[in-house]
Amino acid sequence: MTSIAGNLQAVRQRIRSAAAACGRSPEDIHLLAVSKTWPAACVAEAADAGQVAFGENYAQEGADKVDALADRSLEWHFIGPLQSNKTRLVASRFDWVHSIDRLKIAARLSEQRDPRLPVLNLCVQVNVSGELSKSGVSPEALPELARGIAALPNLRLRGLMCIPEPTEDSALLRERFAVLRRLMASLNADGFGLDTLSMGMSHDIEPAIAEGATIVRVGTAIFGARPRAGDPQEN
Ligand SMILES: *Cc1c(COP(=O)(O)O)cnc(C)c1O
Repeated sequence: MTSIAGNLQAVRQRIRSAAAACGRSPEDIHLLAVSKTWPAACVAEAADAGQVAFGENYAQEGADKVDALADRSLEWHFIGPLQSNKTRLVASRFDWVHSIDRLKIAARLSEQRDPRLPVLNLCVQVNVSGELSKSGVSPEALPELARGIAALPNLRLRGLMCIPEPTEDSALLRERFAVLRRLMASLNADGFGLDTLSMGMSHDIEPAIAEGATIVRVGTAIFGARPRAGDPQEN
């Protein structure tokens, strides 16, 4: 077995244990393999080991990998900061975008999504760490942004995403993830049918699963330490 295949098995086992520890079904937690900075060959290796969903942070790099692996039935999630001049690349190739924090970007994706393709699934990135983070919409501004997105064609608002500030404090992480869970519950009480909480990375999938994560985004624990900077925080 290759090391990527072995790492994937270990991560899937962590997900099963974390789900069992809080009485959740492991089928409700989807593993997104974050392949940013890694070549298409590494994605192919993970795909050979049964992995289907992959996450990319950089539009051009991600688009190149989508094209290189077009003969496999993979699912592609864009999870990085997205500038206006890169929306077309993403709208034409990806299945999901997790990092929406401005209506303008969602509107461009909506316009540029080919209506013959399946709808593009979106998550709004929420800043759950206050001044400690720069990306993501504030919890106060979330309802208005969510209403704006829900009105756009060719898209489907699926849920919320967060990246808490880096910390070893797992109680603090759980608090941050709980904020996202409550925000989704409150939007759903207002009639949104959201089903996705994208939260938890290599070092914190356990507290994220305990607070209801439905997608965990895991890079390092699957592919190893990244060959160049590809930090999940701000860029
Ligand atoms: C890089 C990245 C991840 C994966 O982080 P790891 O610590 O390598 O698991 C998850 N989410 C986002 C948004 C990222 O940019």
